[in-house]
Amino acid sequence: MKKALVYVTVILLFFAGGLYFSTEKSIEPKVTKKVKFALGTIIEFTIKDEEDSTADKAINEAYAEILRIDSIFTDYSEQSEIGKLNLEKPAFDTLSSEVYSLFVKSRELWLKTNGAFDITLGELVTLWGFKIKDAELVKEIVLPDKKEILDAVNRTGMSKIYLQAPDKIYLNGMKGQFDLGAIAKGYAVDKACEVLEKMGIKNYLVNAGGDVRGTGSEWVTGVQHPRQKDKLAVIVNINGSAIATSGDYEQFFEKDGVRYHHILNPKTGFPANDLMSVTVIAPDLTTADALATGFFVMGYKEAIKLADSLENVECYIIDASGQEHQSKGFYKYIRS
Ligand code: ADP
Ligand code: MG
Repeated sequence: MKKALVYVTVILLFFAGGLYFSTEKSIEPKVTKKVKFALGTIIEFTIKDEEDSTADKAINEAYAEILRIDSIFTDYSEQSEIGKLNLEKPAFDTLSSEVYSLFVKSRELWLKTNGAFDITLGELVTLWGFKIKDAELVKEIVLPDKKEILDAVNRTGMSKIYLQAPDKIYLNGMKGQFDLGAIAKGYAVDKACEVLEKMGIKNYLVNAGGDVRGTGSEWVTGVQHPRQKDKLAVIVNINGSAIATSGDYEQFFEKDGVRYHHILNPKTGFPANDLMSVTVIAPDLTTADALATGFFVMGYKEAIKLADSLENVECYIIDASGQEHQSKGFYKYIRS
């Protein structure tokens, strides 16, 4: 009798198992989605094919990594490593290895973009009023004085700083302020992806306010149209790469019919005004984020020339007249 009961239990378990697997196969792949807030934007994590508990744990750790990076690179706090550097402005300093590495990467991209991407523009960004977190606080728009801008341009510039491996920075002549706003978001997402990968997650998407990195399947992502809020300019598929967009519509104000926005030309200190929007696809989001800003300043001809010369980098640009321009291989990513 006892033996028979064991057989029945085994058979039941076998069928239960079979049933379990067959239902599992017939349902859609499992998707876990979580929305968080960091880096002044909404961060959306999507994980496919994992149990909720595994996905939740991975997302929490990836999010913690983003917060950690923000606390190092933010220039809104005097306590962060960048905040301290801006406050104390020592003639030379020793950087943490993480900050040193991102400075080296920033310098590399500054060189590649012929000075268009520059992480030393903090003072100019403040002068233009784009360092105020709450736009509601701005009662009246006052344009900065031209002489003030010129003075700030002269105090600023990557050309004035010197980096010495493994961790030294010399900033004798650099009296401006570091602002990694155009690269830190991409870097934070890349590090969050590293955390996901280390935890064994293979199919995921991280979307930080339209700057996206995804892998494991074809992820569809839309690029916002720079003038029509509800319209997408282009829809792309990414799998194993990253996409970032910089535009003149994210932070801007208008005065006497002129649009002033937050992407500045380091050479003039004024907003770059040849383009409306630049989208870059690159293997990682650190590169895509920084190049989108740099390309915006360069204008479409130079930007496309540079994108075409870089391996695995593509761009899609809408110029100030609304005309579209693309690098040679961008079409491969467009969703057909
Ligand atoms: P968002 O942060 O809105 O995604 P970007 O990635 O283009 O947009 O970064 C813009 C920010 O980068 C600005 O708010 C400013 O802090 C900083 N910045 C502005 N101009 C430049 C530039 N030429 N090079 C590097 N950083 C810049
Ligand atoms: Mg950027």
